[in-house]
Amino acid sequence: MTSDRMTTSAGITVRSVRDDVRARARSASDVCRAALARIESLDPHLHAFNTVVGERALARAAEIDRDFDRWRDRPLVGVPVAVKDNMCTRGVRTTASSRMLEHYVPPYDATAVERLEAAGAVIVGKTNCDEFSMGSSNENSAFGPVHNPWALDRIPGGTSGGSAAAVAARITPLALGSDTGGSIRQPASLCGVVGLKPTYGRVSRYGLIAFASSLDQIGPIARTVDDAALALNVIAGADPRDATSAPEAVPDFTAALTGDVRGARIGVPRALLEHGVDVQVSRAIMTALDTLASRGATLVDVQLPHAEYAIPVYYLVATAEASSNLARYDGVRYGFRAAPGASHPAPGTQHSAPSTQHSALGTMYAQTRARGFGPEVKRRIMLGTYVLSAGYYDAYYLKAQQVRTLILRDYEQAFSGADAVDAIAMPTSPTPAFKIGERVDDPLQMYLADVFTVSANLTGLPAVSVPCGFADNGLPIGLQLTGRRFDEAGLLRLADAYQRDTEWWKPAPPIVTG
Ligand code: GLN
Repeated sequence: MTSDRMTTSAGITVRSVRDDVRARARSASDVCRAALARIESLDPHLHAFNTVVGERALARAAEIDRDFDRWRDRPLVGVPVAVKDNMCTRGVRTTASSRMLEHYVPPYDATAVERLEAAGAVIVGKTNCDEFSMGSSNENSAFGPVHNPWALDRIPGGTSGGSAAAVAARITPLALGSDTGGSIRQPASLCGVVGLKPTYGRVSRYGLIAFASSLDQIGPIARTVDDAALALNVIAGADPRDATSAPEAVPDFTAALTGDVRGARIGVPRALLEHGVDVQVSRAIMTALDTLASRGATLVDVQLPHAEYAIPVYYLVATAEASSNLARYDGVRYGFRAAPGASHPAPGTQHSAPSTQHSALGTMYAQTRARGFGPEVKRRIMLGTYVLSAGYYDAYYLKAQQVRTLILRDYEQAFSGADAVDAIAMPTSPTPAFKIGERVDDPLQMYLADVFTVSANLTGLPAVSVPCGFADNGLPIGLQLTGRRFDEAGLLRLADAYQRDTEWWKPAPPIVTG
């Protein structure tokens, strides 16, 4: 079975690259040069990268080749990796796809980045995303959208769209993404690759540019579940620099991938799937569930009665936390600062209080934020500030937190008792990738793309998206499985077993095959 994953038709994987480099069948430098060459030929069409660090990557690869005995046994030796541009990389600019941080060069590495490099991975660049990870299509990047490798006029999903596109286009076999409401899983689904949001606390958030701190989590995007497990082994685990990182022991996640799912119980929230899901998506999900059942898993009906509130609860909690996290971008400590005197009022503010009422400092704050943030980020800050303000706090923020608890209880109930399930299945996205531009004028429509993904963040539970089919127009569809807290092993076992029986992850997108 394992050898099946390595057929050349399926392309390179993290494991195959790692094993080749380890066996000295290829040098880390050769692997790195090949990845950089793919960026050069493909990225002009995809725009998956904000920054490419060719020289730095080649220098690291050369160091691995030179000092090979030191690196040989590291779990990701020689594996080229792309990192979402909201994770700090020492000496390499980290923008969060915002004008605000366009020239920000962090003096330190995110823990996940540090662990990847210590494992022998070679970072080739920083991937494009929605500004401050707010969006579902990658169209909110201040540097322009990412294009889906399966259809260049389509969105790749968001917000880790650059990471998903880079893996789908086989530029790198592995990328890091971050997921606050679906930003790893949804782009993975729309680009036909695997995306894992680990349990909240499983991976350190140190060095991740904060969006909503009670929801944010870093995770891998890869083409196989096995590769995602290899990457999780490396990035998971407690970190003294992130007080919310969990002390839980980190098992070898690849050891769980036995292919044996006999006796596993998979919950299916049928009521949730009845409305608003593209028929081709629901058909693919049902077929995927039959496949898992034929391997010995049992399908069980589950109820998630509060799931219908997940979107409003998420957009209240996430914006409230964002308004607080983004207060730090004031032009004083780092990032963009509006030049003094250059006080063109932002659109729509011409009739606000006369500037004589503002101190020079106040004007600088206002201008910096007016010009540094894009429209979606401003919308979130305003919404979040509103729901936290005196008089509205109880009605919105507090209420949202209460309903968040009810959503959590739905899941806890499904995962416990005599009828307990091991995972809950649903689509990752209600539709395949939509056209670039199709939803930009309709934020609500955009938010509804997250209907199946936000609950895993509100509850903190791990969830994975795995390719499960193609729509008639050739666009990928993803199956989402949500698991028990800290049971990524069980979750990945199911997803891997499914991948062993299916070929959906194998075909390369047209941009690769030509
Ligand atoms: N689409 C969601 C949002 O815009 C999720 C974003 C994310 O996971 N970072 O908030």
